Amino acid sequence: MDSLNKGEFKFSNDTYKQDFELLTKALDASLSGIIITDNQQPDNPIIYCNRAFEQITGYKRSEIIGHNCRFLQQEDRDQPVRSKMREAIENGSDLVVDIRNYRKDGTLFWNELYMSPIRDSKGRVNYFIGVQNDITRRKKAEDELKANQVKMERRIEERTNNLRENEEYLSSIVQTVRESLVVLSRDLNVLSVNDHFIRTFKVSREETEGKKLYDLGNGQWNIPELKKLLEQILPTNNPVTDFEVTHDFPHIGRKLMLLNAHRIELEGQYKDRILIAIEDITDRRAIEQRKDDFLSIASHELKTPLTTIKGYVQIINRLTAHYSDEKLKSAVGKTSMYVERLNNLIGELLDVSRIQAGKIELHKEPFDFDQMVREAVEGFSQGSRSYQITISGQTNSNVNGDESHITQVVTNLLSNAVKYSPDHKTIHVHLSVVSDYVKLAVTDQGVGIPRDEQNKIFDRFYRVGDIQQRFPGMGIGLYICAEIIRNHYGTLWVESEPQKGSTFSFTLPMNKSEGGTDAR
Ligand code: ADP
Repeated sequence: MDSLNKGEFKFSNDTYKQDFELLTKALDASLSGIIITDNQQPDNPIIYCNRAFEQITGYKRSEIIGHNCRFLQQEDRDQPVRSKMREAIENGSDLVVDIRNYRKDGTLFWNELYMSPIRDSKGRVNYFIGVQNDITRRKKAEDELKANQVKMERRIEERTNNLRENEEYLSSIVQTVRESLVVLSRDLNVLSVNDHFIRTFKVSREETEGKKLYDLGNGQWNIPELKKLLEQILPTNNPVTDFEVTHDFPHIGRKLMLLNAHRIELEGQYKDRILIAIEDITDRRAIEQRKDDFLSIASHELKTPLTTIKGYVQIINRLTAHYSDEKLKSAVGKTSMYVERLNNLIGELLDVSRIQAGKIELHKEPFDFDQMVREAVEGFSQGSRSYQITISGQTNSNVNGDESHITQVVTNLLSNAVKYSPDHKTIHVHLSVVSDYVKLAVTDQGVGIPRDEQNKIFDRFYRVGDIQQRFPGMGIGLYICAEIIRNHYGTLWVESEPQKGSTFSFTLPMNKSEGGTDAR
């Protein structure tokens, strides 16, 4: 029994040894550092370490065995995880912590430490196993990730702040402009209005936003023509420009509003919206009206005494016809010339007033267009002998219109051509037929007109800036001409290049029923 026991013991002793060596090899093959501490001995010394632990820490086995593991923290002892480790040892519990450790050469490495107690048959904790993994790289990646996250968050915050500032900036502009602004959805519901709108129409946001545009107030915007234009904005991208609405608005009474509407050009969520800008032009229009009224009254008032003066000058002219005093005769001649000029200017002002009031009187009759032009040119040439005015082309057509007014247009174009060509004394008049229109073009080689001014010169009282001083004028001749031509269903326009000259052309529909046209 004994020998058997011995034999058995011997056998088992050998097996233990073999097993132990195998286990040691296995532990040494591990990439994780492994230590065992003895919990029964004072200060919990390390009684075993594998090869990986030596490699990770840089200490030799002889420098490790018998020491408490705290040497791995060197001077860095204030790590909160250390108290957790102490607790785990006291309670004999498992623990996983990330702890800053230092190699023998002082370099830091992050250690992911797994601590596990080993109990005996009575449940006492005799040993602790510590498994360590160098997670410095992972930690670094985590730290970088965290830093990037912080950076990203900061950037997002900056962007958000920027956006908020931009929004506040935009909204302060929107709230400051002196126009009422309305944003409409695709189905013409009011999404928002600015403060100016609220103040102008004396309404609240609640009774405005969220409502259909046409239901606002007492239906002031419910105008079929406007409706049609607004509904076309999104499909065609055609804006509504300068649409005038005169209406008896609730709270504010009768007003004249000027309305402009555009598709909002921002992409994304805003692209199907319409922005309407509404301007109250009641006062402006009233002032304009007063100016027009003043002009009309003033020119009438001036015309009356002038007609009397004209009459007296004619009488003086007759009375002095037989006088031989040349000085007197020349003085009377000049007086009558200046009276005539004044009479023409006042006549032009009266024309403007009449046009403004929509009271331009036209006595339309068919007349021979070419003959009218020839006579106008001849008549004009009498007073401008230093200029050579040539005519080319012909229309052989009759025009149904007010001959004296059309003559006035031709004369005006000629007189401008002369006035604005101080250095080039040839003017050319060309007659032609274009489709069923007669066309007349007056070409000079004078000062010309800059491109950006070419549209404006047909506005009343507009004169090109830099010629104001050099050439006398009131800036109304072309306005009258354009209105006369427009009232004859034709158009007047200009082509011009500064310092090279200008060509003013107009077309008028031919009078087809008259013989002149068919003779072509
Ligand atoms: P006015 O000649 O009295 O100023 P108009 O209405 O006839 O008024 O002309 C308006 C403006 O157009 C002029 O002030 C001038 O600047 C410009 N203009 C008209 N005709 C010509 C022309 N033939 N050449 C250059 N500029 C011209």
